[in-house]
Amino acid sequence: MFTVKIEEVTKYYGQQKALDNINLSINKGEVVGLLGPNGAGKSTLLKIITSFLPPSEGTVKINGLDVRDNSLEIRKLIGYLPEHNPLYHDMYVKEYLEFVLRTYPGHKNIKIKIDNIIQLTGLEIEKKKKIGALSKGYKQRVGLAQALIHNPEILILDEPTSGLDPNQLVEIRKIITELGKEKTIILSTHIMQEVEAICNRVVIIDHGSIVADDSPKNLSKKADKSTSYKVEFKEEVNHKLIEKIVGVSKAVHLGNNEWIITSTGNKDIRENIFKFAVTNNFNVLSLAVEKQKMEDIFHRLTK
Ligand code: ADP
Ligand code: MG
Repeated sequence: MFTVKIEEVTKYYGQQKALDNINLSINKGEVVGLLGPNGAGKSTLLKIITSFLPPSEGTVKINGLDVRDNSLEIRKLIGYLPEHNPLYHDMYVKEYLEFVLRTYPGHKNIKIKIDNIIQLTGLEIEKKKKIGALSKGYKQRVGLAQALIHNPEILILDEPTSGLDPNQLVEIRKIITELGKEKTIILSTHIMQEVEAICNRVVIIDHGSIVADDSPKNLSKKADKSTSYKVEFKEEVNHKLIEKIVGVSKAVHLGNNEWIITSTGNKDIRENIFKFAVTNNFNVLSLAVEKQKMEDIFHRLTK
């Protein structure tokens, strides 16, 4: 049985189709990064998985339970950090966590549970403060703490590191990586490096559809199959002309007569670029090989 099984899920907001026939199965223990540009449908999908929104079509099952009919049961299984991390700023950290914990049935050992979660999320030194007084990084820790307080087996984190400074970001990623050893995690992000850093599976979503589903490693391998060259010409060069160079699949103008030229397959096309320049009376000021990164794949798939 899959921990999360999404079948043919489509979501409309009025006339707008935000998700288009999504199929996705996630096994226990996977750490899945849902990657996509703004408006791709990431938050919508996460809201459907957590049973906060019903799908227009299709089914989502968590441990075999349909989210439509088992919303309370499912909320016990899932910890959810929504986008923008809504918190009560006037509450104290500990008070808030206790309040959240008491919304779940069967709450025993409240003090111990809260102390544990404060340890786990590194909130110790700020635990007596009002949430509103905390830095963005610590607010995010409180958001994680509230998602974890009932010890759910699945964590859904909607852009958990957005808006954090580089240090805070590293800290939160560390906590998530730790949690991933024990829990099934689905997190959304529009940052490629984040997925490479913490996930063992990448699902790229664009315009409401899944356009790639693979391990970060495999995606990188695929990226390596073509090579890009950064070329600076002295003169203005016509786009169509560049794309006619033998072996070129795509050319992108960076401005100032600088271009990223991508080859088809693994062929070295540097010679072709020089020949092209000579034939057309252009001067090549510089030419460098650019290793394709996963980021390029992401851009290509979500164009
Ligand atoms: P992402 O999280 O990937 O940025 P969202 O799931 O938030 O994407 O949004 C997907 C699309 O659905 C966007 O075009 C967005 O404007 C639209 N959308 C999201 N929520 C609503 C809503 N409550 N009402 C109408 N349209 C919405
Ligand atoms: Mg979103």
